[in-house]
Amino acid sequence: MDCTEARTRLDAYFDQELDLPNAVAIDQHLVSCPDCRASLAARSALRSSIREHADYRRDAPEGLAERVRARLGSATAAPGRKSGSRWRLPSLAQWLPAGAAAVVAAGISWTAAIQYASPSAEQVIAEQVFRGHARSIVTSHLIEVASSDQHSVKPWLSSKLDFSPPVPDLSAAGFELAGGRLDYMDNRPVAALVYRSRQHVINLFVWPGGNLGGQHVASKNGYNAVGWSRSGMTFWAISDINAAELRTFAAACANAAYP
Ligand SMILES: [Zn+2]
Repeated sequence: MDCTEARTRLDAYFDQELDLPNAVAIDQHLVSCPDCRASLAARSALRSSIREHADYRRDAPEGLAERVRARLGSATAAPGRKSGSRWRLPSLAQWLPAGAAAVVAAGISWTAAIQYASPSAEQVIAEQVFRGHARSIVTSHLIEVASSDQHSVKPWLSSKLDFSPPVPDLSAAGFELAGGRLDYMDNRPVAALVYRSRQHVINLFVWPGGNLGGQHVASKNGYNAVGWSRSGMTFWAISDINAAELRTFAAACANAAYP
């Protein structure tokens, strides 16, 4: 995917409305394109600014969504969008027939309601973690530096990132290091460490910054994820192993990374 194609889908990507193959394609482009990363970061900054400075929030009137849908009738979704995704306001104005100004005006309070109902920062990251894991499995792009030796994996990652990620040895807890690669989360390149437990793959994403208060758990489509912060680093582990086993992994990792 080139920049031109990526730019046409960044809005839908930002709103998490792309299906998995399209989201994965954007993810892969973002890993290597600082320009599109900057463009995405600008959207993120704008949303944060709107949230910070909005001086009121009102719920949408009862039944507004149904009325708007009825007016829109058979408007078709753009290619690559998930079916049944929530409505996007920037496109709404384009879709509305002339004379629907009253609906647009009513939609202003609806905007506030949607902002209010937007996913939390942790949910947005968790969604990226799920997608990152799926991307590594689906595209067979799991490992760029294959080694069970933390002293090989860590320098390789450090040479390609602007930080040095901890690469804990968890073999005593039954989790074998298989290697690492670069990935993309939270608007930045991150370290992806790959561990194995029996036949299962565990991706451990690590990047500086963020401050998850306590442990965050999420599950989706048979995958479990655990996120936490420690010593100025954010960690997200994800796998198809069961939730209890993943928490064991997270605990071992948290203790070993920064004892
Ligand atoms: Zn680009």
